[in-house]
Amino acid sequence: MTDVFTKRQRSQAMSRVRSRDTKPEWILRCGLHRLGFRYRLKNSHLPGSPDIVFPKFHAAVFVHGCYWHRHSGCKDASTPKSHVDFWERKFNANVERDRRVMRQLDSLGWRVLVVWECELTRKTFETIHRVADFLSHGKACFDNSMKQHELLAVAEKKVRYRISSYDEEPEVSEE
Ligand SMILES: [Zn+2]
Repeated sequence: MTDVFTKRQRSQAMSRVRSRDTKPEWILRCGLHRLGFRYRLKNSHLPGSPDIVFPKFHAAVFVHGCYWHRHSGCKDASTPKSHVDFWERKFNANVERDRRVMRQLDSLGWRVLVVWECELTRKTFETIHRVADFLSHGKACFDNSMKQHELLAVAEKKVRYRISSYDEEPEVSEE
């Protein structure tokens, strides 16, 4: 981050969108674990350090924040009203890096899925379901009512974003 912003301006721009914790990702991990999927976190030896990696399925999942990764058409991907050029350059670089990472993973034979944070917070159950389908090529066993029940229990624990107050210095991960 350059110093074109005062600390307060930067906080304002960032706090609008980024929760301090990574609750959506946690919810997803918890749900998948209950469905029996085993994973590793932040595999830094892979391009882009995917958030969740499933070695058995040779699959990687990114949980992308809508703002930094520019979820197309999403209301969480607004652009700050000031320093527009700065932000657009920054956002474009993020998007380009994401594309590059996808290509690299693909060329290494990894299957990759991007999950947006807004999906996890607003359609928690469906999104966990979708990831499970992706991992298992549609063969995940959901006819087990216990598993459905477990998954719903996780979905119901979803917690809304906690938006940092403007005076806090948000911890922003731009990875
Ligand atoms: Zn979104």
